[in-house]
Amino acid sequence: MPAPKKNPEPKPEASLTSPITILDGLGPKTARSFMKLGVFLLEDIFFLLPRRYEDRRYPKPLSDLVPGETACTIARVSDIDSYPGRTEAEIADDSGSAHIIWYTDKIARFVRKGMKLAVYGQLNDKRIDAVFMHPEFEIISPSRGTSLIGRIFPVYPGTADLSQRVIKKFVDLALDKYSVQCLKEFLPQRVLKKYGMMSLHDAVLQIHRPKDELTFIKARNRLAFDEFYLLQSGIIMRRNSHVGDTHAQILKPGGKFDAFMGSLPFELTEAQRVAGYEILADLEKPDPMNRLLQGDVGSGKTLVAVIAMLAAADSGAQAAFMAPTEILAQQHYIKLVKYLEPLGLRVALLTGSLKARERKKLLMDIFCGNVDIVIGTHAIFSQDVDFMNLALVIVDEQHRFGVLQRGALISKGKYPHVLAMTATPIPRTLIMSVYGDLEVSVLNELPAGRKRIQTISLRPQQFRKIPKMIREHAARHEQVYWVCPLIDEGERDLASVNDTCAKLRDILPELKIAVLHGRMPVNEKSAVMNEFSAGNIDILVATVVIEVGVDVPNASLIVIEDAGQFGLAQLHQLRGRVGRGKAQSTCVLLENQDITPDGKARLEAMVRTSDGFELAEQDLQQRGAGEICGTRQHGVTDFRVADLVRDEKILTLARDEARELMTDDPELKNEPEMKKEILHRLGRVLELAATS
Ligand code: ADP
Ligand code: MG
Repeated sequence: MPAPKKNPEPKPEASLTSPITILDGLGPKTARSFMKLGVFLLEDIFFLLPRRYEDRRYPKPLSDLVPGETACTIARVSDIDSYPGRTEAEIADDSGSAHIIWYTDKIARFVRKGMKLAVYGQLNDKRIDAVFMHPEFEIISPSRGTSLIGRIFPVYPGTADLSQRVIKKFVDLALDKYSVQCLKEFLPQRVLKKYGMMSLHDAVLQIHRPKDELTFIKARNRLAFDEFYLLQSGIIMRRNSHVGDTHAQILKPGGKFDAFMGSLPFELTEAQRVAGYEILADLEKPDPMNRLLQGDVGSGKTLVAVIAMLAAADSGAQAAFMAPTEILAQQHYIKLVKYLEPLGLRVALLTGSLKARERKKLLMDIFCGNVDIVIGTHAIFSQDVDFMNLALVIVDEQHRFGVLQRGALISKGKYPHVLAMTATPIPRTLIMSVYGDLEVSVLNELPAGRKRIQTISLRPQQFRKIPKMIREHAARHEQVYWVCPLIDEGERDLASVNDTCAKLRDILPELKIAVLHGRMPVNEKSAVMNEFSAGNIDILVATVVIEVGVDVPNASLIVIEDAGQFGLAQLHQLRGRVGRGKAQSTCVLLENQDITPDGKARLEAMVRTSDGFELAEQDLQQRGAGEICGTRQHGVTDFRVADLVRDEKILTLARDEARELMTDDPELKNEPEMKKEILHRLGRVLELAATS
């Protein structure tokens, strides 16, 4: 390895955004390898976080070494021999001796008898005497100590063509040469003092060269705080820059609302009532509502949305209701027509499968205000859709929409009120960090009379129990979902819709069985769904197309094949297709032979609880938070240090501090460094957010 050129003078122009090739000895080839790690700029190298750390602080006397452990030591070479492809050495200190085996014959070229070595590595666990297996080592010269041990050692995420040694070399070079001039403090003094925070420079240094655990945690927390604090401040800054032109229409419930409430065949749940009030209160304000309605599957979110839409209709405005799938949009349409047309509301369905002529006519009606409520998929925000007076947007099953799509829909209205609905309990902290000031309403109870869904997990040998169960449900005129991972027999050994349907027709010839999957033409899908809703089909064998939102209260049994294949959130959603009526419902999870331990854990969780929040928590532990909103790919929740789940306390703190800061000094006149940092670091996020 060529020695880095001596050049102690820092180049004056270095900044966070300097390319890493500014580092001596880092040429285009190494730069390309670093690119694979997402490292382009000095900033990226400062924030290249170690994957883990090795505690090499305490060298062990040789007599204390334990077989199998990973240890470091300092000792003298008492013997060394080379063999083809192998070097063996004996080392000794005052306490005893040990062996080293390296799988290369080149070591003896540098290492000689009598030299002092620093050694770090794993000991053979088969032998009683201590043998280091191919350890890292460094020759200790009297003039220079060792960098290999005596401290906590970072281990970076690597790539095949970039060794730890090379990564470390350039990280160290960047830190030694440029960290002082690049890592300027930007946090307000007040905040630094209040929490006794470490400086930015020291915090970054500690990440790469931690002194001890406590100092490291302090450093990490400081950097996590930064990320939350900058994002929250940035969100407030963005919002402030819009102030003045964001008036939404004031919506108040009137005659149609009263008529609807009067005709409801059941009582609202207390939670629905509270959520309804919260929403109506928002709609009466000129600030656009930005509210998330969280409620477990079956908690009756649609009805709350109807309350909001009625307030819009009573105020002469239009509402859009967006669903993630065409089937769900259809189902909502059928329901809402039934609810709302008797009140004189004009409801329309806008999906991608409308014929050109129908579509043209519908677009005209929407544009002229001949339609009060438009239900649809993302087709609602195609370029050519214009509303006369869109004042309210409902987004059902919000977790399935990317942030950007949501932004596109909002741009359809001037500043419409937005109600997003989800059954996936997204932690409030996560929502906050993505959307800023989102209000949250929660439906934490199910309508009266619902019975807990009984959930059982069966192995393939127990399959024969199921036809009997189906017959019992069918005898009570209740219906059944049967969910398979695949449509056709596939390469993988998983149940398929077509296969299962044939099998079930064989076993249960007296029952009406139909299939439903994503590859069927849309009108065929809706025909089947309508037949099932009407009770004309006993068993619906389907893929996960039925996962969200589908509401057929008469269905009381769901069988999920190869259930270990599905994620927890998905399983919970699928289970939520039953238990929507008065009947006792059952969910059967069928295990595959080769279910993974993770899959098994998911099924166990499903059997143990039907609480969506508890399951979401589990899910979060397993998957990490970024996936929940589908925002990771948009970079919105891509924190480098912070973890939305683990660092909830820091986030709360950072948010409060950001609010205080932005209230006292909305334009950050007194904190120019902070402003610069926000614009720099969050440029990407703000760009994204600006589209909403
Ligand atoms: P989700 O929250 O999963 O979207 P839905 O809005 O589809 O739930 O409602 C589930 C079912 O419960 C529907 O059939 C709906 O008509 C019914 N429902 C909603 N609210 C009530 C209530 N207060 N009392 C009885 N049934 C209700
Ligand atoms: Mg729903």
